[in-house]
Amino acid sequence: MSSINEIFGCMVFDNTVMQERLPKDIFKQVKKTKEEGVPLTRNVADIVANAMKDWAIEKGVTHFTHWFQPMTGITAEKHDSFINPINDDQVIMEFSGKELIKGESDASSFPSGGLRSTFEARGYTAWDPTSNAFIKDGILCIPTVFCSYTGEALDKKTPLLRSLEVLNTQALRVLKLFGLNDVKRVSTTVGPEQEYFLIDRKVALKRRDITYTGRTLFGNMPPKGQELDDHYFGVIKTRISEYMKDLDNELWKLGIRAKTKHNEVAPAQHELAPIYASGNIAADHNQLTMEIMKKVADKHGMKCLLHEKPFSGVNGSGKHDNWSVVTDTGINLLNPGKSPRSNTLFLTFLCAVIKAVDEYQDLLRMSVASAGNDHRLGGDEAPPAIISMFVGDDLAEVLKSISDGSDYTERAREKMTSGVDALPDFTKDTTDRNRTSPFAFTGNKFEFRMPGSSLSISGPNFILNTAVAEALSQFADYLEKESDFDTALDNLMRNTLKTHGRIIFNGNNYSDEWVAEAERRGLLNLKSTPEAISHFADEKNIKLFEKHGILTRDEVLSRSEISYENYSKVINIEALTMLEMARQDIIPAVTKYVKLLCDELSVKSNVCAAASRTYEEKTIELLSSCLDEIYCNINKLDELVKAAHHIKSAKEKADFYHDSVLECMNEVRRIADTMEVHTAKEYWPFPSYGDLLFSIQE
Ligand code: ADP
Ligand code: MG
Repeated sequence: MSSINEIFGCMVFDNTVMQERLPKDIFKQVKKTKEEGVPLTRNVADIVANAMKDWAIEKGVTHFTHWFQPMTGITAEKHDSFINPINDDQVIMEFSGKELIKGESDASSFPSGGLRSTFEARGYTAWDPTSNAFIKDGILCIPTVFCSYTGEALDKKTPLLRSLEVLNTQALRVLKLFGLNDVKRVSTTVGPEQEYFLIDRKVALKRRDITYTGRTLFGNMPPKGQELDDHYFGVIKTRISEYMKDLDNELWKLGIRAKTKHNEVAPAQHELAPIYASGNIAADHNQLTMEIMKKVADKHGMKCLLHEKPFSGVNGSGKHDNWSVVTDTGINLLNPGKSPRSNTLFLTFLCAVIKAVDEYQDLLRMSVASAGNDHRLGGDEAPPAIISMFVGDDLAEVLKSISDGSDYTERAREKMTSGVDALPDFTKDTTDRNRTSPFAFTGNKFEFRMPGSSLSISGPNFILNTAVAEALSQFADYLEKESDFDTALDNLMRNTLKTHGRIIFNGNNYSDEWVAEAERRGLLNLKSTPEAISHFADEKNIKLFEKHGILTRDEVLSRSEISYENYSKVINIEALTMLEMARQDIIPAVTKYVKLLCDELSVKSNVCAAASRTYEEKTIELLSSCLDEIYCNINKLDELVKAAHHIKSAKEKADFYHDSVLECMNEVRRIADTMEVHTAKEYWPFPSYGDLLFSIQE
């Protein structure tokens, strides 16, 4: 096996490769573009393209693709070969700066939310030089943004890049006021923890619901679930461990810094966390990680489920988005240091985040809303749908002393002693963890815990960056005008905390008291996806996006439309899958079993007394009435799905799917799950929850 140094990033056209292969001045210009956002000239692009092609060809590559992230939430690619004819018989391998910079693609098959009509199908992909090109499956992939013929963003990357620019601009204004004139660039650091399930492939493929929807639409909990807490951090089974090793290797080749891996709470559930990277790269890497997790699973005879709630009754999967803001001079602006009370730079940025999260609760909630995540948020395993922030007791005291002007004495960091002499003592963290908070301060970063496992992190990150940029811009507007900086800063922080302190909650977010308390505080509780989407295009939000050039009004409206449509489509597929499984699998199977019981009963009637026929009679009665009931409900579901198709407005349609279709689906499931309990296992038409969750035993 090759050493990690040989493997790591071997498929990435990164700075090391560029330094080796590009003339010095060209490399310098590319670096400037990557670090400071200075645009590249066509001449530089030509030279970079050629070097990229030579490097790729040496690795056996013949094709390239503009790799982009349309609004479907997954990545897209269209492969072109490097060949170029020089005469009738011969070709050479070529790749120009023009091909590197710009691609044309038919946009009509990607969601646009009405931004372009089919006759203006042209879409463009444009190179994002801040994210490295890489080789995947023998194809040279160029990270790009995707926009319509008229320039509207049709993807997830564009707003993210725009938000990073805006955050940089506004943060620099504030840093200047603190005298930090040497800082040239401010960016975010992002580390997404990715949860997933692994199921034996052969077992998983026997369930059409998993194939079509990524989750189970039927099924009862097995006798053993997650109640013994024996899976979390438990010993990793050999097959899983082989998978994880292979996955690490594949990710490392792509320069993805996969770091931590462990078993998660639910049986068959696991987690992978990378070492954090800058915002744009982290988003690209997470998209790749999800894709590679699935591919490597196939290779190992397993299916990787990234759905937010593949199984009802056990924990679903999230994606904790760890986020901070850093300068190019190495300051983590969310690091409180040893004495937070006197660290006014940290406190200013903390106040900006507090203001941002409070003012744009609706946008943050909307950024994680999806049909899948609706099953997770609000259950006692994931944060509720209410956005609040955890800062821990120490910081809460610091903030209290600012807002009411009271004294604050710095608390010494406690030593932790184990009571065993041979073990070293260590200092305790100043804050304990709070696993129930949607947005928790964890020492030197925030952890946004609401995103679901399959979500692209671009969404939550561009919202967070933009909202914080807006808060910083208001801070800078005020502070730039005041002559006494220290007094102005004191006032600013006090006023911010007085107005927005309501968003801070350090207690148990799963409790009913919090729901009531949050309502008293006037915090939003947007329980479902359609409800969350309905706030996206609120006037205050459009204003925010337009002010900072993140999204135009039309882009906001189109994104609302796409989100509603996505939601409706997901529920529609689930409902159709349910109908198919109920009609073609469940009803015939139960009917067969009932027939067996009837046959048995008729044999028994000739020989046994009535009292010895109770089991057959009662079970036949129960299952037959369930069959009638499920038949009625699937007919109703069928009608509802048909009715949904006639609804014109995207919002009304999504509401209808949520209020009527989903409810009927729950009813169908309830009846089917009752039948499963009373039907012989060999008659049940697909693997049970037990078969799925414990499919990997060695
Ligand atoms: P836990 O499960 O305890 O929250 P993990 O180690 O699973 O922690 O994941 C923590 C994630 O946070 C990792 O991806 C890590 O790289 C990331 N992280 C650590 N420091 C920062 C930071 N300053 N900014 C952004 N992400 C960070
Ligand atoms: Mg973790």
